[in-house]
Amino acid sequence: MTSKQSAYLVLNAGSSSLKFSAFRHHPHNDALETLLSGQISGIGSRARFEAKGADRRPLGEHSWDDKDSACRDTLLQYVLNWINATLVDDEIAAVGHRVVHGGLAISRPMPVSPALIDELDGLIPLAPLHQPHNVAPIRILAKNFPALPQVACFDTAFHSTQPPLARNFALPQALTDEGVCSYGFHGLSYEYVTAHLVESRPDLAEGRVVICHLGNGSSLCAVKAGKSMDTTMGFSVLDGVPMGTRTGSLDPGVILYLMREKQMGLEALEDLLYRQSGLLGVSGLSNDMKVLQESAEPAAKQAVEMFCFRVAKEVAALAASMGGIDALVFTAGIGENSPEIRAAVVERLAWLGIKLNAEANGRKAYDISASDTQIPVFVIPTNEEMMIAKHTINVLGQLAGHA
Ligand code: ADP
Repeated sequence: MTSKQSAYLVLNAGSSSLKFSAFRHHPHNDALETLLSGQISGIGSRARFEAKGADRRPLGEHSWDDKDSACRDTLLQYVLNWINATLVDDEIAAVGHRVVHGGLAISRPMPVSPALIDELDGLIPLAPLHQPHNVAPIRILAKNFPALPQVACFDTAFHSTQPPLARNFALPQALTDEGVCSYGFHGLSYEYVTAHLVESRPDLAEGRVVICHLGNGSSLCAVKAGKSMDTTMGFSVLDGVPMGTRTGSLDPGVILYLMREKQMGLEALEDLLYRQSGLLGVSGLSNDMKVLQESAEPAAKQAVEMFCFRVAKEVAALAASMGGIDALVFTAGIGENSPEIRAAVVERLAWLGIKLNAEANGRKAYDISASDTQIPVFVIPTNEEMMIAKHTINVLGQLAGHA
């Protein structure tokens, strides 16, 4: 009888979705092979399961009625049963989770323990819309499968190297001391892209790189010699550039005005800042960049232009944070797939001597720089799930003393 291979399950649990991927680890060369991925969407209303193989071929689908759609326990168990039945040659050796917030204390991936779950619960006030959903499957698995190793990987951890100048707000020190500061997010994506650059262009990875993670949620990061020096997302995921439905940076005076003049309370403000603004708010049409780019509406054009203007402005600000820039990288849904957005951002940075090769940009080449650019520009597809799988294997290896 041949023994089963080790598969690693990665979970990314949000407010209404549970994304999952499974990877097979090949110990002889430490390589990770993507086996499948999928998600349950519509949690809470009409939950729907979809999975596809590494070749994007559909592997399964299922839907639930309203009653079961809200039961995370049932939905998670369905994913586990389905994966166990589908991956006949593999056994789930461990589960890695994406967790948005590790606070000030956590700067690396951590093995899950009852004490860690309590610590993550304690960070809910810092990310009330995301953290509880991230922690929910960790708790369910710890209860139902206490022997299954779990590892928590944090969006904030990569930014723990930020110097105080970048991290702290101009607030009274007491607030800074209690953790009201700029944490930064999308850290697993920046870590993956940085590791890719270390492999492909070690000379540049030693220098000053601005990475633009432009997706439904967007942020930029200043990475110097592989370490985060500054980033546009701050205390919350609202900061920085405008996003699908979030404002990005906003004068705090606007909030005071809305409270005073429009009697807006916490929930109304949260709804405005997180769900009604950004590309959707400006265009009045959609939060989806592709839809806006294909629209002839002037408001859609305005939203796209504002996005590019703000991204270019942040590239310059982050370059200033590092005292210069040696490379520019685009990643995530918009950064990887929209040559027009990359071209519009770079056009606004022409004064820095950055120039694209239009043909390479159009076909999403890895290096999209013009031959006479002062600063090279790259497209590096991100893979946060693979980063989590790698961390999970490393953390468990260290625990077992194999590091
Ligand atoms: P998330 O932050 O949810 O992970 P993604 O990184 O998947 O989001 O990015 C989603 C965004 O990418 C959407 O705004 C979508 O319109 C945009 N996008 C994907 N493909 C294209 C494309 N070909 N052109 C323009 N925008 C695109």
